[in-house]
Amino acid sequence: MNKLLPTSTAGSLPKPTWLAQPETLWSPWKLHGDALLEGKQDALCLALQEQSSAGIDIVSDGEQTRQHFVTTFIEHLSGVDFENRQTVRIRDRYDASVPTVVGTVARRKSVFVDDARFLRKQTRQPIKWALPGPMTMIDTLYDSHYKSREKLAWEFAVLLNQEARELEAAGVDIIQFDEPAFNVFFDEVNDWGIATLERALEGLKCETAVHICYGYGIKANTDWKKTLGTEWRQYEKAFPKLQKSSIDIVSLECQNSRVPMDLIELIRGKKVMVGAIDVATHAVETPEAVADTLRKALAFVDADKLYPCTNCGMAPLPRSVAQGKLRALSAGAAIVRQELSGADQ
Ligand SMILES: [Zn+2]
Repeated sequence: MNKLLPTSTAGSLPKPTWLAQPETLWSPWKLHGDALLEGKQDALCLALQEQSSAGIDIVSDGEQTRQHFVTTFIEHLSGVDFENRQTVRIRDRYDASVPTVVGTVARRKSVFVDDARFLRKQTRQPIKWALPGPMTMIDTLYDSHYKSREKLAWEFAVLLNQEARELEAAGVDIIQFDEPAFNVFFDEVNDWGIATLERALEGLKCETAVHICYGYGIKANTDWKKTLGTEWRQYEKAFPKLQKSSIDIVSLECQNSRVPMDLIELIRGKKVMVGAIDVATHAVETPEAVADTLRKALAFVDADKLYPCTNCGMAPLPRSVAQGKLRALSAGAAIVRQELSGADQ
């Protein structure tokens, strides 16, 4: 990006009410068959239009074609039984009924590549596409086949790499892997989590990002955050190894969080998507509040590597709130961009 402080979102945006129940995760579709396919494409166009009109520089599909950021990818794989569900504890935090791995996992066909091609046709702006990361995928499943989290993560990394290479060929500029699990399973992150992530991005020539957050603004997550104390130092565990990894961009939660900003120093050299929008509140940030967060981050990341972003996806928010937050992000980034260009003269 030539533009300083290019803005983007972590990924998901609210869906229109005619497509799915609003403010709900895993919300069932309201349309079926061909009408659903057409509805998803229409929603993708709306999400793109909302980002563009708010002044967002790096746009996405707003995850309009997926029910959930992990489940939808898994649904397209063989070796996973969706009828045979088990209750597991996701990220050591909340119980969910999830599908079971019953055999060798394989990607029979591409998952999001048609959607990415469709988005590419609609815009000349840079596109970012989010995929679940290997560690977060295994944490959203019950495995009765491999019986090893690490082994299954390596299998998923291979399938994600196949998908990522096709997304790149479809014209995606940045491929992002969502790894909220990196904030929870620190030993595994360092043993094999970052290694499997690097396997997923092997051979890619486009830019790559990893998004590590404290989750959507749902109750299970906000309750968990209350137990984390006054300083959230989880990033400290993964950052030293991430700094040495081949990933280009690290996407973080910073707005209204208790993450000490100086932890960003540990990934010096990487581009940083600084979360300057809190997705756990309906209150829309002022541009000045966004600018303030970005200024604080500038002490630890060079201006040409700072990418203003949201803390996490905005799928569970009311659509009008998400729109307000997109505009605040854009306006806040513009304030700091102006200050930086003034400083150059
Ligand atoms: Zn997130």
